[in-house]
Amino acid sequence: MTEEPGNHVTTPPVCDYEDSDYQASFWDKGGREYEDRAEAVALERLLPPGGRLLLELGAGAGRNTSRYLGFDRIILLDYSRTQLEQAQQRLGRSDKYVYVAADVYRLPFVSGLFDAATMIRVLHHMADAPKALGQVRDALRTNGVFILEFANKLNLKAILRFLLGRQKWNPFTLEPVEFARLNFDFHPKAVRNWLRELGFSIERTLTLSHFRIGLLKRIVPTGILVFFDSILQWTGAWWQLTPSVFVKATVMRDSIPHTGQDDLLSYFKCPDCGHSPLTDKKDHLECSSCKKRWEVRDGIYDFREPMKNE
Ligand SMILES: [Zn+2]
Repeated sequence: MTEEPGNHVTTPPVCDYEDSDYQASFWDKGGREYEDRAEAVALERLLPPGGRLLLELGAGAGRNTSRYLGFDRIILLDYSRTQLEQAQQRLGRSDKYVYVAADVYRLPFVSGLFDAATMIRVLHHMADAPKALGQVRDALRTNGVFILEFANKLNLKAILRFLLGRQKWNPFTLEPVEFARLNFDFHPKAVRNWLRELGFSIERTLTLSHFRIGLLKRIVPTGILVFFDSILQWTGAWWQLTPSVFVKATVMRDSIPHTGQDDLLSYFKCPDCGHSPLTDKKDHLECSSCKKRWEVRDGIYDFREPMKNE
């Protein structure tokens, strides 16, 4: 059965990549090698070399996952099941990877679980960014590291277009701009404000994709663009005028440390009522409090909507 878009019980709306060939059309054949390699440099600079548990939010087809291999276990989370199936084909099934289909506004994890979380090119689709960021904070342990990428409305191109009267929206104001349905650019100061209000401390900021200009990407070898981009990334500490910004933040709030370690079942809570632990029923996890059942099929935990009662 296929779902009609909009049938999901999720507010705010979720940008769904179900059945999308995003990986192939945008990354593999889309001339994004420069952006991809610049992201690899930034992740290497910001992410701790290793740890126990990492949550990859909006993992998609697992494009970035191989950059997190220093972690004992990686939870790949995406709203789209078909994206996770592509990631599974790429990475295989093993104890190292856990595949979870879930809504970022209702994360199915107990609080204080993760040592680190990454959210790359995902906030871009968030109609209620602070709500999503609050969910991430709850899932991280005290001093847990959060690497966040966001699309910057205060980029040079938008500023020039605005000053020349070719763009209506103002890049200097703090509110997000929705330039296409469920595609948002954010002001760097607004993102910093949200993170601080949620109890994050901002450790570092890098700017990326200084040379995201079609002509340059065609005539200059990618390695050279990546080299100069990686030098300029450091200027993100002083100003942010690029289309893409990376922030490293840590959780200041105290959380109760999670002690389950390798016990997968102890990671999860019911996304509807918050109850944990859930009961393992092989093809689903059951919530003993609200009785909802969450499907487990072909190695993918599905917390988007409860299973229907037959
Ligand atoms: Zn429940």
